[in-house]
Amino acid sequence: MTLTPAQQLAATDRAHIIHPYLPGTAEERVVMTEGKGCRLTDAEGRSYLDATGGLWLAQVGHGRKEIADVAHAQMQQLEYFTSFWEFSNDKAIQLAERLATLAPDNLNHVYFTSGGSEGNEAAIKMARYYHHRRGEGSRTWILARDKAYHGIGYGGGSATGFPVYHEGFAPMMPHVSHLTPPWPYRTELYGGADPTDFLIAELEGRIAEIGASNIAAMIGEPIMGVGGMLVPPADYWPRVREVLDRHGILLIFDEVVTAYGRVGEWFAAQHFDVKPDIITTAKGITSGYTPLGALLVSDEVTEALLQDHGFPMGYTYNGHPVAAAVALANLDIIERENLLSRAVTMGEYLHAQLTDALGDLPIVGEIRSVGMMLAVELVADRETRTPLPMNPARMPHDVIRRETGVIVRDSAHSLVLSPPLIMTEQEAKEAATAMRSVLERTTPAGDI
Ligand code: PLP
Repeated sequence: MTLTPAQQLAATDRAHIIHPYLPGTAEERVVMTEGKGCRLTDAEGRSYLDATGGLWLAQVGHGRKEIADVAHAQMQQLEYFTSFWEFSNDKAIQLAERLATLAPDNLNHVYFTSGGSEGNEAAIKMARYYHHRRGEGSRTWILARDKAYHGIGYGGGSATGFPVYHEGFAPMMPHVSHLTPPWPYRTELYGGADPTDFLIAELEGRIAEIGASNIAAMIGEPIMGVGGMLVPPADYWPRVREVLDRHGILLIFDEVVTAYGRVGEWFAAQHFDVKPDIITTAKGITSGYTPLGALLVSDEVTEALLQDHGFPMGYTYNGHPVAAAVALANLDIIERENLLSRAVTMGEYLHAQLTDALGDLPIVGEIRSVGMMLAVELVADRETRTPLPMNPARMPHDVIRRETGVIVRDSAHSLVLSPPLIMTEQEAKEAATAMRSVLERTTPAGDI
């Protein structure tokens, strides 16, 4: 039997590519070949609506020629040179200055990486090294939360709060302690108490148990993404910051998802009005056109890191000039097209569309959003809020994609959306209608 070119690509993929989270027995492949705006096309010519922005990142949408031209020009001018020691390049310098202008005013220093996992490894090491340099080397513990996702390194992976990311990889990094996540919909987590009061008391208790003089930092996503798009109460982060300050513990915001307009501000730190000591970012900094990450680091932490021989940790691709040039072009588009305010208005519009389309379905427990980060939490029962059972062979997001071409994602019993910030009203309606077409026939037992 002769295979079509699309079938051949799928067969070759099965033969050679190890995909994260895909069992070897899985036959299906969706081979993307083109992207424009919020649309993708696969090798068979089928069109998709990208309502997840790839993996939470395609801020300015796919297929921007302007960014491709910048990458092309930069590759011809200077494709790479190291940023170790005294070496630098003009694009990394321009980008660092620009990020410092956009970030909270205590964060004026930038450490570049190639992505979010690398960024969190760097942040955890920076936090420990900061204390080491200040003669407090006993401060090694990292506080994190259940349901957090901080990437795949041993540091960030250990701070990640899902057992599935730890099983089989033991031993994970020691000296990590997980707290309860802020998830107001799950009132049972807080035993009837106000969620923030409960969480602050737990934090104080944990610090007392471990000893403040043994704790380097707390790391947290301001809004948890992979955990199901969990939005904390407004007073949670300011109160956490106050407790950490009192105990000399650094606050690391993992804004790999939430930065660069996703929540309607440059950084979610601005949305919650807190000043972390370190913010890790990646994804939306280039909208995915090239890999890049950037840590925004406070003046105080930087001063400690740069003592003596400097910070002894570098990546070959620190400050890659092509990635930096692409990031600058991406930020230009975000600014020129007012995508921060668009994230707010389109996020509200999409939220309203989801409410209209899905609000009456008994399996929809809650629809929540901040800017263009949205989630539809699925339950078997609205009263008890029991999570909807899921059949791995027929997950709602898979069925939605197969039947309608709309790509949404499953995150811990919620369907999450994080579309390009340029999504149109028509596309928002299409996403909501597509989700309804599958969820309206999904039973409380999870059968579709
Ligand atoms: N941190 C958060 C909050 C993330 O959502 C992710 C990836 O989804 C990461 C870190 C890891 O980033 P990367 O996949 O670029 O290594």
